[in-house]
Parts: sequence; structure tokens; C-alpha cells
Amino acid sequence: MQYIVMDMEWNTAYSKKLGGFMNEVIEIGAVKLNDALEELDAFSVIVKSQVGKRLQSRVKTLTHLTNEDIANGVSFQTAIRQFSDWVGSEENIFLTWGDGDIRTLIKNHIYFLGQDILPFVCNYADVQKYCQSFTDVAGSGQQLGLSAAAEKLGINPDAFPHHRALDDSRLTVACFRRVFDAEKLKKYVYRCDTDFYARLAFKPYYITDLNNPAVDRRAFYCLCDMCGGKVRQEKKWKHTNQSFRTEFYCKTCDRHFRVCVRFKQLYDGVEVKKTYSEIVAESEEKSAVPTVTESTKS
Ligand SMILES: [Zn+2]
Repeated sequence: MQYIVMDMEWNTAYSKKLGGFMNEVIEIGAVKLNDALEELDAFSVIVKSQVGKRLQSRVKTLTHLTNEDIANGVSFQTAIRQFSDWVGSEENIFLTWGDGDIRTLIKNHIYFLGQDILPFVCNYADVQKYCQSFTDVAGSGQQLGLSAAAEKLGINPDAFPHHRALDDSRLTVACFRRVFDAEKLKKYVYRCDTDFYARLAFKPYYITDLNNPAVDRRAFYCLCDMCGGKVRQEKKWKHTNQSFRTEFYCKTCDRHFRVCVRFKQLYDGVEVKKTYSEIVAESEEKSAVPTVTESTKS
């Protein structure tokens, strides 16, 4: 088994063909590691942009790549052939910091080669998710940037200063080595089958129609979040701001409170988020202070 730690740089450009903006890959960098995480080889290629003619200033500042560098690069088609040859035919696990790089690579692959799978990628793991699970933001839903994560793991990111694709791959490798545990990694690794690509292409959205069969109406049943007793609903459920809300009154506690229920359709289920907030009467106005939030996934 080989690990391919990959990073890319891209430039956002308007595509006439798509009628919208796309992230065009301008550099691919990668490091190949064996089972013991020893570096076997490194890869770096600059891709000649075909959609965007000029680099965004943000990209120039971050990467120190110039318009001239990009003009002298190879086409995406050639870059992918070289990269695929370099990856080779041994069983691999691709690792990227967040899934943005792999999504962008797939989109470019579709755009330039008309193929929606990456034949040289056997397995994939989001190394950001994996590394974060060893830090104090684990389970918070927060996403750490590579440099911030490196610092939390006791690595000085300034030792990898250029933000070119290969530098960022090497910094990712340093983070990965610090927390590597083959057993723990397993639950982050996905086989790159059709389900994997469908999951990656799926865009989560909030359900706004109560008649959607995915909506579990039991989520609207509420008890007092202070005493657990039965409550009186004071208003009809109303849809605002991607969630459904209403107000309740608890006789036992003599208090009014608001409940917000939000349904998010994920690839493999619906996530329900229910928030209780206090309604405090301030002269004529009412303001709400969130008290409890509960999340469930079905
Ligand atoms: Zn109560």
C-alpha cells in the first residue's frame, strides 16, 4: 500500500462552456509514501491554464506563481497523464487536506477529459478530518487550515513557507506522520467506487417543504427543556430562514420559549437540528437567548 499525499493550486476563472466560474487547476504537487511513511518520491507539475488567461492576484501572492510560469506549463491533459504514470499501479490511498482538492481535480477531469472518475485513485481519505481528530477542535465541526493544524500538532509551518503545491503536500505529510495510526485511519478511508463519487458530488441542502417524505414529523413534538413537562404550543409552525419555528408555553415553569427545527438533507440521511431559546419580555420587545441545541441524524 502506498500513500499519495496531494495538494493543488487553482485559479478561479470564468468558463463560457459552463456559463459560470470554475476552479482551474494550475499546479499539482504530491508525495508518495510507503507503509512506514518514508518518502519514496515527489511529483510537481505546473499546468498551463486554458480557461483563465490571467492569475487572480490572490493566487499570485499566495503561491508566487506568475502568469509566465502558467503560460509555460503543460496542458491539464498532459499533466494528468504524467501524474497518473507517476502514481503507478500499486494499491494506494490518496490523502488531501479537506476534500476541496479532490473535488476540484474531479471537476477538471470532467471538464478537460470528459471522465467523471479518477482511474489512478484507489482509495481516498480526508487527512484534515483525520488529523483534526487528534486536536482540541475534534468533533466541533470547525475546519482547521493546514498551518493552524500544524501548529496545534507541534510543527512549525514556517519551515514550509512557499505555499506551492509540493510544499503544502510536505507540510501535510509532517502532520500525518505526527498522528499516524493505521488502525485509526481505517474509518476515514473510502474505496473510490461509484458510491464514493456520488457522495462527493452530492450537495447537502435544507428541506423547506414540510410535505417532503424525508421529514420526520416527530421532531416537532416538544417538551419543556427545563422541567421535561408537557407544553402548550402558542403559534403555528412557520418556515423562516431555512428552519421551522414556533413558540411554546410551560405552565409548570411559567415561561415562554421558542423552538427552531432545521432539516438538512445529507447524502445518506437527514440531519435534524433542534434549538430551544428563551423568550425574554423586554418592555414591548421580545428577544431570544439560545439555551439548548440538539442534533440528531437519521
Ligand atoms: Zn417547564
